[in-house]
Amino acid sequence: MSEEILKRVVGKIDSLKDYAVNLMLEIIRRPAVNPAFGGEGEYDRAMFLLDEIKQWGFSDIKIINVRDPRAKNGVRPNIIAYIKGETGDKLWILAHLDIVPPGDLSAWTVTKPFEPIIKEGKIYGRGSEDNGQAIVSSLVAAKALLEEDIKPRRTIAIALVSDEESGSDYGIGYLIKHHPELFNRNDIALVPDAGVSDGSFIEVAEKSILWSKLRFKGVQAHASMPHKGLNPHRIAAEFILLLDRLVKEKYGRIDPLFDPPMTTCEPTMVGNSSGSPNIIPGEHEVVFDCRILPEYNLDKFLEDLNRLFSTIKSVYEKKIGESLFPQLELEISMRADAAPPTPIDSPIVSSLVEALKTLRGLSPKIGGIGGGTVAAFFRRIGIPAAVWSTIDETAHSPNEYCVIENLIADAKIIAYLMVKT
Ligand SMILES: [Zn+2]
Repeated sequence: MSEEILKRVVGKIDSLKDYAVNLMLEIIRRPAVNPAFGGEGEYDRAMFLLDEIKQWGFSDIKIINVRDPRAKNGVRPNIIAYIKGETGDKLWILAHLDIVPPGDLSAWTVTKPFEPIIKEGKIYGRGSEDNGQAIVSSLVAAKALLEEDIKPRRTIAIALVSDEESGSDYGIGYLIKHHPELFNRNDIALVPDAGVSDGSFIEVAEKSILWSKLRFKGVQAHASMPHKGLNPHRIAAEFILLLDRLVKEKYGRIDPLFDPPMTTCEPTMVGNSSGSPNIIPGEHEVVFDCRILPEYNLDKFLEDLNRLFSTIKSVYEKKIGESLFPQLELEISMRADAAPPTPIDSPIVSSLVEALKTLRGLSPKIGGIGGGTVAAFFRRIGIPAAVWSTIDETAHSPNEYCVIENLIADAKIIAYLMVKT
């Protein structure tokens, strides 16, 4: 890209600052609380944005409404705005329309959640950072290109989607499942929905998450007569220690992309049915939160948990009445299998690194996180996706805000990607 084009785009974005700020205020004034949390959904916000952008000169704007009787007008809208590029391979920029509820209103001390105000260079309101900043930055970058009549290298697809906060069944998950024709293997994607306050972290990978509840069943007895029962605490304690060893030995790979760089598996909650110091309870429950490096298979991991229990069982096994103890009930309360990581040499990552270096003088850290973003949807269908933005991480908190300077600076990075990648 010539220096001259870059200068023009950057200059244009600077001149659109007031526009960007106003757009953010208008977005916040149209709450789009996800119906999963009792809100009316994204309809009003989506229609407002559609109306806003339809005269800008996008090559095409697709609207894909997904039926949902809980939402206003029975639909969850998804908007895709295209700018035709030199090639048909796309650069996706994914921003989500929906928001979480405000939470405890008394904790909103700067302003009310849907009455945005500007204070000390920040715009306060629910949804300002999550994900208003991505909506505004990506649209302002597109506006700059369109007004300057600059053709992007790849075809740009800005996707303003529903339902990110509750599983994406009505959003990107729906589009990928029911409209596979929209995507192709040479596409790349940016998801500006997480980041750090100076923009120096690019997320390319995530660990799998497994929340499991293990209920160890022994046999209740008087604590002075342990031989008449079977103490499930002891079984659980052995299990916890053996699992620790298993994770270190069999799942022990170190991957410096992640912090911490290894699989972790922490017992977080325990419970039992003993109401008294002199009762050996019949059950002991342990909940584990495991964050597993993406190269390991969760089904195999679960098999290993069961095998571990069998090992312990063979030592303690006891027939009481007609049944054999101890027994194990394993319940999975949450499972998210990690998508394959985005290769760090893929063009979305290298261009982002280059953009941050050129425009901000930054050498970003490229890494993985402990779990789940919507980038996984792209990664699962083979589209490299990077998660990046410049934010103070106020999402889902009271007094959520976005920094106006970041709004503009991120638009410039996005524009750089549009022109260059
Ligand atoms: Zn978000």
